[in-house]
Amino acid sequence: DLVPWQRALRAEFPIITAHPELVYLDSAATAQKPRAVLDAVQTYLTTANANAGRGTYPWANASTELVEGARARIGAFLSDPAPERSAVHFTSGTTEGLRTVARDWLPGLLDDGDEIVVPFADHQANLVPWLEARELLAARGKRITVREMPYQASSGDYDPAALAASAGPRTRFVALTHVHHVYGADMNVRRVREAVGPDAVICLDAAQSVGHLPVSVAALDVDFVAFSGHKALALPGSGAVWARQRRGPRFVPGGWSGTPNTTGIVSLTAALDWLRAAGEERIERWTTALALRLTDGLRQLAAYRVLGCQRSLALDSDIQHRCGIVTFRHRSIGASDLGFILFSHGFMVRTDDHCQGDGGEKSSSVRVSVHVYNTPEEIDRLLDVLATLE
Ligand code: PMP
Repeated sequence: DLVPWQRALRAEFPIITAHPELVYLDSAATAQKPRAVLDAVQTYLTTANANAGRGTYPWANASTELVEGARARIGAFLSDPAPERSAVHFTSGTTEGLRTVARDWLPGLLDDGDEIVVPFADHQANLVPWLEARELLAARGKRITVREMPYQASSGDYDPAALAASAGPRTRFVALTHVHHVYGADMNVRRVREAVGPDAVICLDAAQSVGHLPVSVAALDVDFVAFSGHKALALPGSGAVWARQRRGPRFVPGGWSGTPNTTGIVSLTAALDWLRAAGEERIERWTTALALRLTDGLRQLAAYRVLGCQRSLALDSDIQHRCGIVTFRHRSIGASDLGFILFSHGFMVRTDDHCQGDGGEKSSSVRVSVHVYNTPEEIDRLLDVLATLE
């Protein structure tokens, strides 16, 4: 029974407890912060704030240690099996992490005539950098083929069999998303590794998985992982990219590395510690149950259609396949009108094109995304309001 566990954790989010009349259902956009994260930032700024990596006085040393210690914490959080060979680079979030892989490391991994496979139906942050890299490489005389990742129509995740059929020895690099930000689907990363073999380099967009479910680079067998701190209960502007192998420094023009986002990094360490103590498996069970409750409720209402991820529509389906995100449409009410109506009842949801840029049905849909602070009662109240619009 997770109810007492959840009740205690919910009480640790000041913005949630301060607004009992509001229901925050947009955690896939950015998550709320537990008191431990806010306290860690305040403690740092009031006891040791200094520029890390510079200076020899105690505050500067403490700042340097916090930054270096955070790298080890992130590696451990991701179950890095060989930290002596890997590297953790701090970024402002997933977008910058993926761009870093594309700009600083991908060119060195590819030869003329190689092929990369990228997702065309995921977040744009996991598409545009790879297309740009192709142009950059072409300008340097390396022609790279970009192939579209195949998807399974029935479940919304990737299609490893179709990928295996189209991949060849020149398939050197595959960009994947761990959890889809519109469908909440677990994209089946492990089976993609089996499809492309051990030599391909896999880069994972973990924006919607780190902080929501256990993410193990050892279990997933991936080479790069990019994630955002702000979606994992830390401050915006924090994040990291983990690399299985050290690949030389990132290119940061002007100064050897720039001043690190020390408060962001402090918040990230505190958030990962908080998540580990709370238990990511339990968080996943809780948010999946809420998402299934909403999905099930929507199925009783004829005016609504849940997008994607068909397999999880059955309640006995693989629980991995609905990671706290449910996107749906109303038969006749547009998404932004629905968003306004819902906010008049206190519900905050996402209503736009969900950064996919391909228009179509997703662009007029409403996304509900939950975290550990949300409750079944909130989902039931949302369903009650949605039912009045039938
Ligand atoms: N990838 C996915 C799957 C996302 O959901 C998001 C955020 N919506 C991003 C990348 C980009 O993250 P950020 O804005 O934190 O860089």
